[in-house]
Amino acid sequence: MNQYAPSLTEAHRRFLTDLFPGEGCLLSAEGRAAFSADSSRCRAMPWAVVRPERREQVVELLRWAEAEHMPLYPRARGTCQVGNAVPALGGVVVSLLRLDRILDVDPDDFVAVVEPGVVTADLQAVCAKKKLFYPPDPASVKMSTVIGNASTCAGGLRAVKYGVTRDWVLGLEAVLPGGRVLRAGGRMHKDVVGLDLTRLFIGACGKLGLITEMTVKLIPLPEASASVLAGFADLSSCMEGARAVFRAGLLPAACEFMDANVLEAVRRIDDVPLPEATRAALLFKVDGTAEGVRAETERLCAALRPLSPVGVTVGTGAEEEAVWTVRRRISPATFQIKPNKVAEDIAVPRSRVGEAVERAHLIGEEHGLPVLCYGHLGDGNLHVSIMHDVSVPGEAEAAERAKNAVFRLAIELGGTISGEHGTGLTKAAFVPEQLGAASIALMDAIKANFDPSGIMNPGKAW
Ligand SMILES: Cc1cc2nc3c(=O)[nH]c(=O)nc-3n(C[C@H](O)[C@H](O)[C@H](O)COP(=O)(O)OP(=O)(O)OC[C@H]3O[C@@H](n4cnc5c(N)ncnc54)[C@H](O)[C@@H]3O)c2cc1C
Repeated sequence: MNQYAPSLTEAHRRFLTDLFPGEGCLLSAEGRAAFSADSSRCRAMPWAVVRPERREQVVELLRWAEAEHMPLYPRARGTCQVGNAVPALGGVVVSLLRLDRILDVDPDDFVAVVEPGVVTADLQAVCAKKKLFYPPDPASVKMSTVIGNASTCAGGLRAVKYGVTRDWVLGLEAVLPGGRVLRAGGRMHKDVVGLDLTRLFIGACGKLGLITEMTVKLIPLPEASASVLAGFADLSSCMEGARAVFRAGLLPAACEFMDANVLEAVRRIDDVPLPEATRAALLFKVDGTAEGVRAETERLCAALRPLSPVGVTVGTGAEEEAVWTVRRRISPATFQIKPNKVAEDIAVPRSRVGEAVERAHLIGEEHGLPVLCYGHLGDGNLHVSIMHDVSVPGEAEAAERAKNAVFRLAIELGGTISGEHGTGLTKAAFVPEQLGAASIALMDAIKANFDPSGIMNPGKAW
Protein backbone atom coordinates (compact mmCIF):
# COMPACT_ATOMS: atom_id res chain seq x y z
CA MET A 1 0.00 0.00 0.00
CA ASN A 2 1.42 3.39 -0.95
CA GLN A 3 1.58 5.96 1.83
CA TYR A 4 0.62 9.31 0.40
CA ALA A 5 0.93 12.71 2.01
CA PRO A 6 -2.35 13.01 3.98
CA SER A 7 -2.88 16.69 3.16
CA LEU A 8 -1.18 19.87 2.02
CA THR A 9 0.95 21.40 4.80
CA GLU A 10 1.91 25.05 5.10
CA ALA A 11 5.40 24.13 3.83
CA HIS A 12 3.85 22.41 0.78
CA ARG A 13 1.78 25.50 0.03
CA ARG A 14 4.87 27.72 0.29
CA PHE A 15 6.80 25.44 -2.07
CA LEU A 16 4.01 25.46 -4.67
CA THR A 17 3.38 29.21 -4.57
CA ASP A 18 7.14 29.91 -4.88
CA LEU A 19 7.49 27.55 -7.86
CA PHE A 20 4.25 28.70 -9.53
CA PRO A 21 3.84 32.39 -8.70
CA GLY A 22 0.62 34.37 -9.15
CA GLU A 23 -2.12 32.56 -11.08
CA GLY A 24 0.23 29.60 -11.58
CA CYS A 25 -0.93 28.05 -8.31
CA LEU A 26 -4.61 27.87 -7.35
CA LEU A 27 -5.41 27.26 -3.70
CA SER A 28 -8.84 28.88 -3.36
CA ALA A 29 -11.91 26.61 -3.27
CA GLU A 30 -13.32 28.20 -6.46
CA GLY A 31 -10.04 27.89 -8.32
CA ARG A 32 -9.66 24.24 -7.36
CA ALA A 33 -13.30 23.34 -8.03
CA ALA A 34 -12.87 24.02 -11.74
CA PHE A 35 -10.33 21.17 -11.86
CA SER A 36 -12.22 18.67 -9.71
CA ALA A 37 -14.18 16.87 -12.46
CA ASP A 38 -13.88 15.71 -16.05
CA SER A 39 -16.53 14.74 -18.62
CA SER A 40 -17.33 11.58 -16.62
CA ARG A 41 -18.96 13.86 -14.01
CA CYS A 42 -16.93 12.03 -11.34
CA ARG A 43 -15.68 14.65 -8.92
CA ALA A 44 -13.03 15.02 -6.18
CA MET A 45 -11.55 18.26 -4.90
CA PRO A 46 -7.79 18.68 -5.46
CA TRP A 47 -5.74 20.20 -2.64
CA ALA A 48 -4.02 22.53 -5.12
CA VAL A 49 -3.82 23.14 -8.86
CA VAL A 50 -0.57 24.18 -10.52
CA ARG A 51 -0.18 25.53 -14.05
CA PRO A 52 3.41 25.25 -15.29
CA GLU A 53 4.66 27.54 -18.05
CA ARG A 54 8.13 26.03 -18.35
CA ARG A 55 9.45 22.46 -18.41
CA GLU A 56 11.90 23.32 -15.59
CA GLN A 57 8.92 23.91 -13.28
CA VAL A 58 7.61 20.44 -14.14
CA VAL A 59 10.99 18.86 -13.34
CA GLU A 60 11.16 20.66 -10.01
CA LEU A 61 7.55 19.72 -9.19
CA LEU A 62 8.13 16.02 -9.83
CA ARG A 63 11.33 16.06 -7.77
CA TRP A 64 9.37 17.54 -4.85
CA ALA A 65 6.31 15.32 -5.28
CA GLU A 66 8.41 12.15 -5.16
CA ALA A 67 10.17 13.29 -1.99
CA GLU A 68 6.88 14.29 -0.35
CA HIS A 69 4.84 11.31 -1.64
CA MET A 70 2.42 13.84 -3.07
CA PRO A 71 -0.14 12.46 -5.58
CA LEU A 72 -0.07 14.30 -8.92
CA TYR A 73 -2.83 14.32 -11.53
CA PRO A 74 -1.82 15.48 -15.03
CA ARG A 75 -4.66 17.25 -16.79
CA ALA A 76 -5.17 18.66 -20.27
CA ARG A 77 -8.72 19.70 -21.33
CA GLY A 78 -10.56 17.34 -18.95
CA THR A 79 -12.74 15.77 -21.66
CA CYS A 80 -11.99 12.25 -20.41
CA GLN A 81 -15.25 10.34 -20.00
CA VAL A 82 -14.21 7.80 -17.37
CA GLY A 83 -12.70 9.92 -14.59
CA ASN A 84 -9.01 9.63 -15.46
CA ALA A 85 -8.47 13.37 -15.00
CA VAL A 86 -10.15 13.44 -11.55
CA PRO A 87 -7.93 13.81 -8.43
CA ALA A 88 -9.52 10.75 -6.85
CA LEU A 89 -7.26 10.39 -3.79
CA GLY A 90 -6.49 14.07 -3.18
CA GLY A 91 -3.23 15.79 -4.13
CA VAL A 92 -2.16 18.28 -6.79
CA VAL A 93 -3.69 18.67 -10.25
CA VAL A 94 -1.11 19.68 -12.87
CA SER A 95 -2.91 21.62 -15.59
CA LEU A 96 -0.72 21.69 -18.70
CA LEU A 97 -2.69 24.11 -20.83
CA ARG A 98 -0.16 26.94 -20.50
CA LEU A 99 2.42 24.82 -22.32
CA ASP A 100 0.60 25.23 -25.61
CA ARG A 101 3.08 25.79 -28.42
CA ILE A 102 3.17 23.93 -31.70
CA LEU A 103 6.96 23.71 -31.84
CA ASP A 104 7.31 22.41 -35.38
CA VAL A 105 5.35 21.24 -38.42
CA ASP A 106 7.91 19.90 -40.85
CA PRO A 107 6.88 19.08 -44.45
CA ASP A 108 10.20 17.31 -45.14
CA ASP A 109 10.39 15.05 -42.09
CA PHE A 110 6.57 14.71 -42.06
CA VAL A 111 6.42 15.32 -38.31
CA ALA A 112 4.88 17.81 -35.90
CA VAL A 113 6.15 18.54 -32.41
CA VAL A 114 3.69 19.78 -29.79
CA GLU A 115 3.49 20.78 -26.15
CA PRO A 116 0.73 19.35 -23.90
CA GLY A 117 -1.79 22.20 -24.29
CA VAL A 118 -2.16 21.99 -28.08
CA VAL A 119 -5.74 21.19 -29.13
CA THR A 120 -5.87 18.48 -31.80
CA ALA A 121 -8.03 20.44 -34.27
CA ASP A 122 -5.65 23.41 -34.00
CA LEU A 123 -2.70 21.21 -34.96
CA GLN A 124 -4.73 19.77 -37.84
CA ALA A 125 -5.57 23.27 -39.10
CA VAL A 126 -1.92 24.35 -39.05
CA CYS A 127 -0.93 21.12 -40.81
CA ALA A 128 -3.65 21.55 -43.47
CA LYS A 129 -2.20 24.95 -44.45
CA LYS A 130 0.96 23.06 -45.42
CA LYS A 131 -1.10 20.30 -47.14
CA LEU A 132 -0.20 17.94 -44.30
CA PHE A 133 -2.55 15.65 -42.37
CA TYR A 134 -2.66 14.47 -38.75
CA PRO A 135 -5.52 11.92 -38.93
CA PRO A 136 -6.61 11.06 -35.33
CA ASP A 137 -10.12 12.50 -34.97
CA PRO A 138 -11.95 11.78 -31.73
CA ALA A 139 -15.36 13.45 -31.71
CA SER A 140 -13.79 15.78 -29.13
CA VAL A 141 -11.14 16.89 -31.65
CA LYS A 142 -11.97 20.59 -31.17
CA MET A 143 -11.78 20.44 -27.38
CA SER A 144 -9.18 17.79 -26.51
CA THR A 145 -5.40 17.88 -26.89
CA VAL A 146 -2.93 15.85 -28.94
CA ILE A 147 -1.15 14.69 -25.79
CA GLY A 148 -4.43 14.05 -23.90
CA ASN A 149 -5.46 11.93 -26.92
CA ALA A 150 -2.17 10.06 -26.75
CA SER A 151 -2.46 9.56 -22.98
CA THR A 152 -5.88 7.94 -23.50
CA CYS A 153 -5.03 6.45 -26.92
CA ALA A 154 -8.10 8.15 -28.33
CA GLY A 155 -9.80 6.65 -31.35
CA GLY A 156 -12.16 8.32 -33.74
CA LEU A 157 -14.20 8.06 -36.89
CA ARG A 158 -11.20 7.62 -39.19
CA ALA A 159 -9.58 4.85 -37.13
CA VAL A 160 -10.71 2.15 -39.57
CA LYS A 161 -8.30 3.46 -42.21
CA TYR A 162 -5.80 5.53 -40.23
CA GLY A 163 -5.63 3.75 -36.88
CA VAL A 164 -5.86 5.31 -33.42
CA THR A 165 -3.63 7.93 -31.78
CA ARG A 166 -1.07 5.25 -30.85
CA ASP A 167 -0.28 4.76 -34.54
CA TRP A 168 0.81 8.40 -34.98
CA VAL A 169 3.16 8.97 -32.06
CA LEU A 170 6.85 8.80 -32.94
CA GLY A 171 8.49 10.12 -29.81
CA LEU A 172 8.06 12.02 -26.58
CA GLU A 173 9.68 13.76 -23.69
CA ALA A 174 8.32 12.90 -20.25
CA VAL A 175 9.24 13.96 -16.75
CA LEU A 176 9.17 11.09 -14.26
CA PRO A 177 8.76 11.19 -10.48
CA GLY A 178 12.01 12.37 -8.92
CA GLY A 179 12.49 14.80 -11.83
CA ARG A 180 14.12 12.35 -14.26
CA VAL A 181 13.61 13.40 -17.88
CA LEU A 182 12.98 10.59 -20.35
CA ARG A 183 13.34 11.10 -24.11
CA ALA A 184 12.02 8.23 -26.17
CA GLY A 185 11.70 7.86 -29.94
CA GLY A 186 12.12 10.94 -32.11
CA ARG A 187 11.56 12.20 -35.64
CA MET A 188 12.32 8.82 -37.21
CA HIS A 189 9.36 7.01 -38.77
CA LYS A 190 11.12 3.69 -38.15
CA ASP A 191 13.15 2.64 -35.13
CA VAL A 192 13.68 -0.87 -33.79
CA VAL A 193 16.36 -0.22 -31.19
CA GLY A 194 15.33 -1.23 -27.69
CA LEU A 195 11.94 -1.65 -26.10
CA ASP A 196 9.32 0.85 -27.26
CA LEU A 197 9.14 3.17 -24.27
CA THR A 198 7.17 5.73 -26.28
CA ARG A 199 4.26 3.30 -26.69
CA LEU A 200 4.21 2.56 -22.95
CA PHE A 201 2.96 6.11 -22.39
CA ILE A 202 0.16 5.76 -24.92
CA GLY A 203 -3.07 5.00 -23.09
CA ALA A 204 -1.21 5.09 -19.74
CA CYS A 205 -3.38 8.05 -18.65
CA GLY A 206 -0.59 9.86 -16.86
CA LYS A 207 0.23 6.90 -14.61
CA LEU A 208 3.90 6.66 -15.63
CA GLY A 209 4.98 10.30 -15.88
CA LEU A 210 4.07 13.67 -17.23
CA ILE A 211 4.51 14.16 -20.98
CA THR A 212 5.99 17.58 -21.78
CA GLU A 213 6.50 17.23 -25.54
CA MET A 214 5.40 14.86 -28.28
CA THR A 215 6.45 14.21 -31.87
CA VAL A 216 3.73 12.88 -34.16
CA LYS A 217 3.76 11.53 -37.69
CA LEU A 218 2.09 13.39 -40.56
CA ILE A 219 1.07 12.33 -44.07
CA PRO A 220 -0.01 14.31 -47.13
CA LEU A 221 -3.47 15.85 -46.81
CA PRO A 222 -6.04 13.89 -48.87
CA GLU A 223 -7.17 16.02 -51.79
CA ALA A 224 -10.85 15.07 -51.68
CA SER A 225 -13.46 13.05 -49.83
CA ALA A 226 -17.05 11.85 -50.21
CA SER A 227 -19.57 10.23 -47.88
CA VAL A 228 -22.30 7.65 -48.39
CA LEU A 229 -25.27 7.09 -46.06
CA ALA A 230 -27.11 3.81 -46.69
CA GLY A 231 -30.24 2.52 -44.94
CA PHE A 232 -31.23 -1.17 -44.72
CA ALA A 233 -34.47 -3.00 -43.96
CA ASP A 234 -32.84 -5.16 -41.28
CA LEU A 235 -29.71 -5.47 -39.17
CA SER A 236 -28.30 -8.49 -40.95
CA SER A 237 -28.36 -6.85 -44.43
CA CYS A 238 -26.71 -3.82 -42.85
CA MET A 239 -23.86 -5.92 -41.39
CA GLU A 240 -23.58 -7.82 -44.68
CA GLY A 241 -23.38 -4.45 -46.49
CA ALA A 242 -20.32 -3.45 -44.43
CA ARG A 243 -18.73 -6.83 -45.13
CA ALA A 244 -19.42 -6.47 -48.86
CA VAL A 245 -17.60 -3.12 -48.97
CA PHE A 246 -14.43 -4.52 -47.39
CA ARG A 247 -14.66 -7.69 -49.49
CA ALA A 248 -14.74 -5.48 -52.59
CA GLY A 249 -11.21 -4.42 -51.62
CA LEU A 250 -12.20 -0.97 -50.34
CA LEU A 251 -10.83 0.60 -47.18
CA PRO A 252 -13.09 3.54 -46.29
CA ALA A 253 -11.74 6.27 -44.02
CA ALA A 254 -14.84 5.82 -41.84
CA CYS A 255 -17.46 3.09 -41.52
CA GLU A 256 -20.12 4.02 -38.97
CA PHE A 257 -23.20 2.11 -37.87
CA MET A 258 -26.55 3.30 -36.43
CA ASP A 259 -29.36 1.06 -35.20
CA ALA A 260 -33.12 1.64 -35.55
CA ASN A 261 -33.40 3.16 -32.06
CA VAL A 262 -30.73 5.73 -32.87
CA LEU A 263 -32.45 6.71 -36.13
CA GLU A 264 -35.76 7.01 -34.30
CA ALA A 265 -34.15 9.30 -31.68
CA VAL A 266 -32.55 11.54 -34.32
CA ARG A 267 -35.86 11.79 -36.21
CA ARG A 268 -37.36 13.41 -33.10
CA ILE A 269 -35.02 16.42 -33.44
CA ASP A 270 -33.97 16.49 -37.09
CA ASP A 271 -34.55 15.16 -40.58
CA VAL A 272 -33.00 11.81 -41.37
CA PRO A 273 -32.44 11.48 -45.12
CA LEU A 274 -33.53 7.82 -45.14
CA PRO A 275 -37.00 6.20 -45.50
CA GLU A 276 -39.02 5.31 -42.38
CA ALA A 277 -38.54 1.61 -43.24
CA THR A 278 -34.84 1.88 -42.38
CA ARG A 279 -33.98 -0.45 -39.48
CA ALA A 280 -30.19 0.06 -39.53
CA ALA A 281 -27.81 2.36 -41.39
CA LEU A 282 -24.19 2.61 -42.47
CA LEU A 283 -22.27 5.82 -43.02
CA PHE A 284 -19.03 5.69 -45.01
CA LYS A 285 -16.39 8.24 -45.86
CA VAL A 286 -13.79 7.72 -48.55
CA ASP A 287 -10.83 10.00 -49.15
CA GLY A 288 -7.82 10.35 -51.43
CA THR A 289 -7.28 11.98 -54.80
CA ALA A 290 -10.35 13.49 -56.53
CA GLU A 291 -10.32 10.77 -59.20
CA GLY A 292 -9.80 8.00 -56.65
CA VAL A 293 -12.66 9.26 -54.49
CA ARG A 294 -15.05 9.30 -57.47
CA ALA A 295 -14.12 5.75 -58.43
CA GLU A 296 -14.23 4.43 -54.84
CA THR A 297 -17.64 5.99 -54.19
CA GLU A 298 -19.04 4.24 -57.25
CA ARG A 299 -17.51 0.91 -56.24
CA LEU A 300 -18.79 1.29 -52.70
CA CYS A 301 -22.36 1.93 -53.87
CA ALA A 302 -22.08 -1.04 -56.25
CA ALA A 303 -20.91 -3.30 -53.42
CA LEU A 304 -23.96 -2.31 -51.34
CA ARG A 305 -26.50 -2.81 -54.16
CA PRO A 306 -26.96 -6.61 -53.79
CA LEU A 307 -28.10 -5.98 -50.20
CA SER A 308 -31.01 -3.87 -51.53
CA PRO A 309 -30.52 -0.78 -49.38
CA VAL A 310 -33.81 1.05 -48.79
CA GLY A 311 -32.09 4.41 -49.28
CA VAL A 312 -28.67 5.72 -50.31
CA THR A 313 -27.49 9.34 -50.09
CA VAL A 314 -24.12 10.39 -51.48
CA GLY A 315 -22.53 13.64 -50.29
CA THR A 316 -19.63 15.26 -52.10
CA GLY A 317 -18.01 18.68 -51.94
CA ALA A 318 -20.05 21.27 -50.05
CA GLU A 319 -22.87 18.73 -49.55
CA GLU A 320 -20.75 16.12 -47.84
CA GLU A 321 -21.08 17.55 -44.33
CA ALA A 322 -24.91 17.36 -44.52
CA VAL A 323 -24.71 13.56 -44.84
CA TRP A 324 -23.00 13.48 -41.45
CA THR A 325 -25.69 15.53 -39.67
CA VAL A 326 -27.56 12.39 -38.60
CA ARG A 327 -24.38 11.00 -36.99
CA ARG A 328 -23.47 14.26 -35.28
CA ARG A 329 -27.00 14.66 -33.84
CA ILE A 330 -26.97 11.28 -32.05
CA SER A 331 -25.66 12.50 -28.72
CA PRO A 332 -28.31 15.21 -28.08
CA ALA A 333 -31.01 13.04 -29.70
CA THR A 334 -30.57 10.16 -27.24
CA PHE A 335 -32.08 12.33 -24.49
CA GLN A 336 -35.34 12.43 -26.45
CA ILE A 337 -35.77 8.80 -25.43
CA LYS A 338 -35.11 9.19 -21.70
CA PRO A 339 -33.40 11.94 -19.69
CA ASN A 340 -30.46 9.87 -18.39
CA LYS A 341 -27.88 7.75 -20.12
CA VAL A 342 -25.24 5.20 -19.25
CA ALA A 343 -22.94 5.36 -22.28
CA GLU A 344 -20.42 2.59 -22.86
CA ASP A 345 -17.95 1.94 -25.65
CA ILE A 346 -17.27 -1.76 -25.96
CA ALA A 347 -15.30 -3.22 -28.87
CA VAL A 348 -15.68 -6.73 -30.27
CA PRO A 349 -14.16 -8.58 -33.23
CA ARG A 350 -15.71 -7.04 -36.32
CA SER A 351 -17.51 -10.23 -37.34
CA ARG A 352 -19.41 -10.17 -34.03
CA VAL A 353 -20.78 -6.62 -34.10
CA GLY A 354 -24.22 -7.75 -35.34
CA GLU A 355 -24.51 -10.30 -32.53
CA ALA A 356 -23.33 -7.68 -30.00
CA VAL A 357 -26.06 -5.27 -31.17
CA GLU A 358 -28.81 -7.91 -31.01
CA ARG A 359 -27.78 -9.06 -27.56
CA ALA A 360 -27.38 -5.49 -26.26
CA HIS A 361 -31.00 -4.89 -27.32
CA LEU A 362 -32.05 -8.06 -25.48
CA ILE A 363 -30.21 -6.86 -22.37
CA GLY A 364 -32.23 -3.66 -22.64
CA GLU A 365 -35.49 -5.61 -22.89
CA GLU A 366 -34.56 -7.79 -19.91
CA HIS A 367 -33.96 -4.67 -17.82
CA GLY A 368 -36.98 -2.77 -19.17
CA LEU A 369 -34.82 -0.01 -20.69
CA PRO A 370 -34.27 1.22 -24.26
CA VAL A 371 -30.76 0.54 -25.56
CA LEU A 372 -29.31 2.49 -28.50
CA CYS A 373 -26.31 1.13 -30.42
CA TYR A 374 -24.11 3.05 -32.85
CA GLY A 375 -20.44 3.56 -33.48
CA HIS A 376 -17.33 2.71 -35.37
CA LEU A 377 -18.36 -0.55 -37.06
CA GLY A 378 -15.14 -0.52 -39.08
CA ASP A 379 -13.16 -1.23 -35.94
CA GLY A 380 -15.82 -3.16 -34.03
CA ASN A 381 -16.23 -0.29 -31.55
CA LEU A 382 -19.84 0.06 -30.43
CA HIS A 383 -21.30 2.86 -28.34
CA VAL A 384 -24.08 1.33 -26.25
CA SER A 385 -26.37 3.89 -24.62
CA ILE A 386 -28.63 2.56 -21.88
CA MET A 387 -31.40 5.15 -21.52
CA HIS A 388 -33.20 5.54 -18.22
CA ASP A 389 -34.88 8.05 -15.94
CA VAL A 390 -33.35 8.43 -12.51
CA SER A 391 -36.60 9.92 -11.19
CA VAL A 392 -38.36 6.60 -11.85
CA PRO A 393 -37.74 4.25 -8.90
CA GLY A 394 -35.46 1.35 -9.86
CA GLU A 395 -34.37 2.63 -13.30
CA ALA A 396 -30.91 3.85 -12.25
CA GLU A 397 -30.21 0.47 -10.64
CA ALA A 398 -31.56 -1.38 -13.69
CA ALA A 399 -29.28 0.70 -15.94
CA GLU A 400 -26.30 -0.20 -13.78
CA ARG A 401 -27.17 -3.93 -13.99
CA ALA A 402 -27.66 -3.63 -17.75
CA LYS A 403 -24.25 -1.92 -18.06
CA ASN A 404 -22.60 -4.83 -16.23
CA ALA A 405 -24.36 -7.27 -18.55
CA VAL A 406 -23.06 -5.31 -21.59
CA PHE A 407 -19.49 -5.50 -20.22
CA ARG A 408 -19.83 -9.28 -19.69
CA LEU A 409 -21.20 -9.59 -23.21
CA ALA A 410 -18.16 -7.77 -24.64
CA ILE A 411 -15.77 -10.06 -22.79
CA GLU A 412 -17.76 -13.18 -23.80
CA LEU A 413 -17.60 -12.16 -27.47
CA GLY A 414 -13.80 -11.90 -27.27
CA GLY A 415 -13.87 -8.11 -27.00
CA THR A 416 -13.06 -5.36 -24.54
CA ILE A 417 -15.00 -3.22 -22.05
CA SER A 418 -13.54 -0.11 -23.68
CA GLY A 419 -12.41 0.53 -27.24
CA GLU A 420 -11.42 4.16 -26.72
CA HIS A 421 -12.68 5.89 -23.59
CA GLY A 422 -10.58 3.91 -21.09
CA THR A 423 -11.41 2.54 -17.67
CA GLY A 424 -10.38 5.17 -15.08
CA LEU A 425 -12.84 5.33 -12.20
CA THR A 426 -16.08 4.31 -13.87
CA LYS A 427 -15.09 0.87 -15.21
CA ALA A 428 -12.49 -0.04 -12.58
CA ALA A 429 -14.48 -2.95 -11.17
CA PHE A 430 -14.48 -4.78 -14.51
CA VAL A 431 -10.81 -4.47 -15.38
CA PRO A 432 -9.67 -7.59 -13.43
CA GLU A 433 -12.39 -9.60 -15.16
CA GLN A 434 -11.00 -8.68 -18.57
CA LEU A 435 -7.26 -8.58 -17.91
CA GLY A 436 -6.76 -11.17 -15.16
CA ALA A 437 -4.49 -10.86 -12.11
CA ALA A 438 -1.26 -11.90 -13.86
CA SER A 439 -1.47 -9.14 -16.51
CA ILE A 440 -2.37 -6.52 -13.92
CA ALA A 441 0.60 -7.56 -11.75
CA LEU A 442 2.93 -7.14 -14.74
CA MET A 443 1.49 -3.69 -15.51
CA ASP A 444 1.92 -2.68 -11.86
CA ALA A 445 5.53 -3.88 -11.95
CA ILE A 446 6.22 -1.81 -15.08
CA LYS A 447 4.65 1.25 -13.43
CA ALA A 448 6.80 0.77 -10.32
CA ASN A 449 9.93 1.25 -12.43
CA PHE A 450 8.73 4.65 -13.62
CA ASP A 451 6.88 5.68 -10.48
CA PRO A 452 8.17 3.77 -7.43
CA SER A 453 6.03 5.69 -4.92
CA GLY A 454 2.86 5.42 -7.01
CA ILE A 455 2.25 9.19 -7.02
CA MET A 456 1.25 9.49 -10.69
CA ASN A 457 -2.53 9.63 -11.13
CA PRO A 458 -3.30 7.15 -8.33
CA GLY A 459 -6.69 5.51 -7.76
CA LYS A 460 -7.41 4.68 -11.41
CA ALA A 461 -7.73 1.27 -13.00
CA TRP A 462 -5.43 0.37 -15.89
C1 LIG B 1 -18.05 15.20 -26.63
C2 LIG B 1 -16.93 14.21 -26.44
C3 LIG B 1 -16.61 13.36 -27.47
C4 LIG B 1 -15.58 12.42 -27.31
N1 LIG B 1 -15.28 11.61 -28.35
C5 LIG B 1 -14.27 10.72 -28.23
C6 LIG B 1 -13.92 9.86 -29.32
O1 LIG B 1 -14.52 9.92 -30.40
N2 LIG B 1 -12.90 8.99 -29.15
C7 LIG B 1 -12.21 8.93 -27.97
O2 LIG B 1 -11.28 8.14 -27.87
N3 LIG B 1 -12.52 9.72 -26.92
C8 LIG B 1 -13.52 10.61 -27.01
N4 LIG B 1 -13.84 11.43 -25.96
C9 LIG B 1 -13.07 11.33 -24.71
C10 LIG B 1 -11.91 12.35 -24.56
O3 LIG B 1 -12.10 13.46 -25.42
C11 LIG B 1 -10.57 11.70 -24.85
O4 LIG B 1 -10.29 10.75 -23.85
C12 LIG B 1 -9.41 12.68 -24.95
O5 LIG B 1 -8.29 12.00 -25.47
C13 LIG B 1 -9.01 13.37 -23.65
O6 LIG B 1 -8.17 14.48 -23.98
P1 LIG B 1 -7.99 15.74 -23.02
O7 LIG B 1 -7.04 16.64 -23.70
O8 LIG B 1 -9.30 16.31 -22.65
O9 LIG B 1 -7.30 15.07 -21.76
P2 LIG B 1 -7.80 14.98 -20.24
O10 LIG B 1 -9.20 14.51 -20.18
O11 LIG B 1 -7.45 16.23 -19.53
O12 LIG B 1 -6.83 13.83 -19.71
C14 LIG B 1 -6.99 12.52 -20.13
C15 LIG B 1 -5.94 11.62 -19.46
O13 LIG B 1 -4.66 11.96 -19.95
C16 LIG B 1 -3.79 12.30 -18.88
N5 LIG B 1 -2.93 13.39 -19.36
C17 LIG B 1 -3.31 14.56 -19.91
N6 LIG B 1 -2.23 15.28 -20.24
C18 LIG B 1 -1.15 14.55 -19.90
C19 LIG B 1 0.27 14.75 -19.99
N7 LIG B 1 0.79 15.87 -20.50
N8 LIG B 1 1.09 13.79 -19.52
C20 LIG B 1 0.59 12.65 -19.00
N9 LIG B 1 -0.72 12.41 -18.89
C21 LIG B 1 -1.58 13.34 -19.35
C22 LIG B 1 -4.70 12.71 -17.74
O14 LIG B 1 -4.09 12.47 -16.48
C23 LIG B 1 -5.87 11.78 -17.96
O15 LIG B 1 -5.57 10.53 -17.39
C24 LIG B 1 -14.87 12.36 -26.07
C25 LIG B 1 -15.20 13.23 -25.03
C26 LIG B 1 -16.22 14.15 -25.21
C27 LIG B 1 -16.53 15.08 -24.08
